[in-house]
Amino acid sequence: MNVLVIGGGIVGTSVAYHLSRRDGVDVTLFERGETLGCETTGKSSVGLRQYGTDETQLRMKRYGKRLYNEFMAEASDMRYEPTEVIHVATSEAGRETIERTRASEHPMGSPSELVEGSELHDVLVVPEIREGSIESALYRPNGGYFRSPESLVHAFADRAASAGATVATGTEITDITVREGRVEGAVADGERHAGAVVCAAGPWNNAIADMAGVDLPVRQERLHLLELEPSEPLTRTLPKIRHVETGITFRGRPNGRVLVYHAEPAEDPYAAADVVDPDEPAEVPESVTYSILESVESIAPTLSDAEVVHEDVAYTSRTPDGNPVVGWTDTPGFSIAALHSRGVQYAPAIGDVITRQLVNDDPTTHYPDISISRFDGYADDRP
Ligand SMILES: Cc1cc2nc3c(=O)[nH]c(=O)nc-3n(C[C@H](O)[C@H](O)[C@H](O)COP(=O)(O)OP(=O)(O)OC[C@H]3O[C@@H](n4cnc5c(N)ncnc54)[C@H](O)[C@@H]3O)c2cc1C
Repeated sequence: MNVLVIGGGIVGTSVAYHLSRRDGVDVTLFERGETLGCETTGKSSVGLRQYGTDETQLRMKRYGKRLYNEFMAEASDMRYEPTEVIHVATSEAGRETIERTRASEHPMGSPSELVEGSELHDVLVVPEIREGSIESALYRPNGGYFRSPESLVHAFADRAASAGATVATGTEITDITVREGRVEGAVADGERHAGAVVCAAGPWNNAIADMAGVDLPVRQERLHLLELEPSEPLTRTLPKIRHVETGITFRGRPNGRVLVYHAEPAEDPYAAADVVDPDEPAEVPESVTYSILESVESIAPTLSDAEVVHEDVAYTSRTPDGNPVVGWTDTPGFSIAALHSRGVQYAPAIGDVITRQLVNDDPTTHYPDISISRFDGYADDRP
């Protein structure tokens, strides 16, 4: 069986890794960038957390943790930094949001704790956070992040290549070959390749699915990213802090810098998102930089003199119900691996699901919650 995987981010490389371990599967991964992990994955905060609102999400995260543990136990350049995740509210409305978030946590996740703003410095060692500004906080101790997104992508891709997969960087898929409603392959650099197609192209998934005649129930949300260099060294690597009112999230990097990103909080993130062309030039508007810095400073005044050393824009995908869309579609020969963000945590399980479906005709236990057919108007070609 030939399988063509489109996209060399964390999801595509995981799919290639899982497929390459099966006998009789010839895998080719196509990445249009010159290096793997050069888009969303390379800009990610690459964090893991054992929290979620439903069992499927948590089972997928567990699969991911187990595989990352396995990789790290082998000779590996993956480095993991444990860190707490703290959601902070600065208003009564924010406190209610935090209480709702905690009430929605599935018991399979790790325990979290509600902390009164006035007690923050009694309970946590976070001197950089101004206690007086915090109304309430949600403390999630079981979190952490990988130092380098590239190390994850290579953990998958190098193993896939050793098992015989072809990893073609600098190679763009420009068309999908469809005959009588069935996908038969894809075109790269003017050359036709035959095989089942797995689309793992992050924010480009909609455009590629269009070529196969599949209208994806997936949209993208724009994130604004800043990297700050504090004027004085911080007393600790900052935990991951999310301000619930503004959606601004920041965490320390081991080199002392601080990664900040912003997505507008929305009751319904899918409704607030749109199908975008990620190739359109985009930059962080000055007004957004200003309001991000203002919000960061109000929580962590030590960062008020920090220098902005890097700005960027990234896109994160959104689905109508917050679960990924993975596996068979109603176009035979075309499988999808699209996310509602959290790709670093779900990519390992997504690789496993796609492989079981393609190789074993096994829908997997995740099937009802992540199949495209859960949405009205969509079917799949489950054998
Ligand atoms: C700021 C930020 C913080 C985040 N934090 C976390 C976190 O802490 N934990 C977590 O789990 N998730 C997090 N995420 C989300 C996570 O990073 C993404 O879900 C994940 O990286 C998406 O991976 P992907 O492989 O689907 O997409 P991408 O990494 O975008 O990969 C898709 C690839 O497809 C390639 N491609 C596109 N079109 C073609 C074509 N025609 N031919 C060939 N190749 C093509 C692109 O070049 C790209 O490399 C974060 C995201 C951002 C932006």
